[in-house]
Amino acid sequence: MMAKLSFTENQKSVLKLSRKEGHRSWGHIRLNLIKAKIKDHHLIRQNESCCYCNRNIGGEFRMVLDIEHILPKSRFVTHMFTQRNLSISCKRCNMNIKKDDISFLEHPLAQLPNRIFRSRYYKFIHPNLDNYDSHLLMYHFQRGRTHRIIKYEIQNNSAKGKFNYEYFKLDRLERNSFDEAQGATPRIEIKDPKISNLFSELKSNFNQ
Ligand SMILES: [Zn+2]
Repeated sequence: MMAKLSFTENQKSVLKLSRKEGHRSWGHIRLNLIKAKIKDHHLIRQNESCCYCNRNIGGEFRMVLDIEHILPKSRFVTHMFTQRNLSISCKRCNMNIKKDDISFLEHPLAQLPNRIFRSRYYKFIHPNLDNYDSHLLMYHFQRGRTHRIIKYEIQNNSAKGKFNYEYFKLDRLERNSFDEAQGATPRIEIKDPKISNLFSELKSNFNQ
């Protein structure tokens, strides 16, 4: 269960005002402290990983993780500060892939029920309503000091795991990680059989 994030009375009125003003007020300076609070809360909850690709902020990625609105604030302004609608994601997943898209919803906007925070309405792994690992398991294996190889494995044929993998183009992350570990410029196929074998061994050890 999710620990509840609490706000002071003063902060609550700031939230109310911002919702009223619309999603463009998200960048307003008066929200800075509130956003810091939200961000800390979700960073801890998610082990400092992106809620969609599961990559960690550390290591070679040095990603900038930011507050993510699962239902985009531009379309769901009432849920701009709803805790269940907030998470932390990397810029690749949020700004380059998901943006304001809502094709991950099971129903068209007009047919959406009022109680939208149910796992079954989301085709991908919902950061707050689903357990990521039971749909999609990420393995990573580090080679030397800096090279980290990533591999995702869909669990029990999970439709959410599969959708998440495709929607966020996680195959590209896998390929790039293999390429980087080989010290090559990005390429599609895995060239170094040594790395490939090491990874398979590691994976089978995990599965025992
Ligand atoms: Zn990500």
